[in-house]
Amino acid sequence: MRLVLLGMPGAGKGTQAKLLVERLGLAYIGTGEFLRDAIARGTPTGKLVEPIMKAGRLVPDAIVNEVVAELLRGPNRPEKFVTDGYPRTYAQAEAFDALLRLEHLELNAVINLSISDDEVVRRLLARARQDDTEATIRQRLAEFHANNDALIDFYQKRGLLKTVPAVGEVEEIYANILRALGLLPEATKKSAT
Ligand code: ADP
Repeated sequence: MRLVLLGMPGAGKGTQAKLLVERLGLAYIGTGEFLRDAIARGTPTGKLVEPIMKAGRLVPDAIVNEVVAELLRGPNRPEKFVTDGYPRTYAQAEAFDALLRLEHLELNAVINLSISDDEVVRRLLARARQDDTEATIRQRLAEFHANNDALIDFYQKRGLLKTVPAVGEVEEIYANILRALGLLPEATKKSAT
């Protein structure tokens, strides 16, 4: 199984990625985690991206694309994986597509964890730092949408997109993902009595 996880900040993407890794035995391809680790170890890439990440900006496409390419090339590459936080821009999606084709790795599905903007604002405000206001959160959401809507369109056109509602308990959302992947039977509708 080769998956991409998309979702707004606050949609619980990291939590679901962890469950997919543990239970389906997928390798975790998380660019945020990889870059933070590179900074901690002081690698050349880490030194390059440190000021960018500290400023809260996106790392240039060429750098993240190369990080992912290195992870998916060579004899030790994982055959099954889930990405978390990649691709993040349309240009990354195109580069990832080209890489996967070159490596003869085909994606099975792209899971779009969907929640409403109002729910995101509610969740982020609940766990926010003092300087997070509804206005700054809405600003971040607008930036996020600009990239994410293009990604959704990209994968929709390729017939890979599965939109999964990301509301409810963690286990419920995980079951929704398995259902979208055809790994669990559809939930039987409760009959109205
Ligand atoms: P968050 O969900 O809080 O943004 P991540 O761990 O996904 O956390 O990313 C942390 C930071 O790493 C981002 O703010 C960005 O600077 C960088 N980053 C991670 N993935 C990408 C990516 N695909 N493209 C560009 N920058 C990225």
